[in-house]
Amino acid sequence: MKLVRYGAAGGERPGIVDPDGVVRDVTGLLPDWGPDQLSPEVLRRVAAVRPDELPAVNGDVRLGPPVTGTPNFYAIGLNYRAHVVEISGDAPAEPLLFSKATSCISGPFDPIVLPPMSETSDWEAELGIVIGTAAWQVDEASAADCIAGYCIVNDASERDMQANHGGQWIKGKSCPTFGPIGPWVVTTDELPDPQTLDLWLDLNGERKQSANTKEMIFGCVQIVSYLSRFLRLLPGDIIATGTPAGIGATLDPPRYLAPGDELRVGITGLGEQHTPVVAGT
Ligand code: ZN
Repeated sequence: MKLVRYGAAGGERPGIVDPDGVVRDVTGLLPDWGPDQLSPEVLRRVAAVRPDELPAVNGDVRLGPPVTGTPNFYAIGLNYRAHVVEISGDAPAEPLLFSKATSCISGPFDPIVLPPMSETSDWEAELGIVIGTAAWQVDEASAADCIAGYCIVNDASERDMQANHGGQWIKGKSCPTFGPIGPWVVTTDELPDPQTLDLWLDLNGERKQSANTKEMIFGCVQIVSYLSRFLRLLPGDIIATGTPAGIGATLDPPRYLAPGDELRVGITGLGEQHTPVVAGT
């Protein structure tokens, strides 16, 4: 299934996208796509309903973040070798973990709002894991069962805030709107192998990132199992799995986001984000 939330920001309703691409309302089945609705049992119950028995949502409806109530928004750094090379770093021996504030989450077509004075905001196309079942001390063989689905994440980053203010990367990863997710969460029954997906990012129609998730140093089940050694992953948690080469900071000269820019981010089977960039206050 493709899980979506549609409607005005803050008032989204849960839906699914049917095989013809039509959004179908599921508020008759569940209150929202939150942590309590991502378990295998709930997903199976919704999948058992014929989509054409659900109300069709007409017209040009806004899609918001496809899940809500995200308890934690984790991210993995330096998980593609070509990206490690472009920043002249060393490949990590173990997954490099950081967090994004959950308040950065925004919809897949919402603008990225640059914070005041930002001159070094950047893009990072990534595959996102959405946890469906709590995971603590799970081995790799069991880790896949804890995943509800996958979505596109843009791990937007303010490089000066990330690098030049001490402490953790979270400072540069968390501005409001710096976490577009969606347009959909595709459940694992539709996407059994997350390590074969093309991902790409275009800035103003020009390709900047192009890779395949088979190039990830640590794959999705490895990441889930590894993180569960240190913390309990919760239903609804999102894990961005790292970006491939082609970020703006490593271009010569660097190219950072500016008002008027347009980003498109796509992953095979997971749809496409389209986010304009605007100045904030
Ligand atoms: Zn990232």
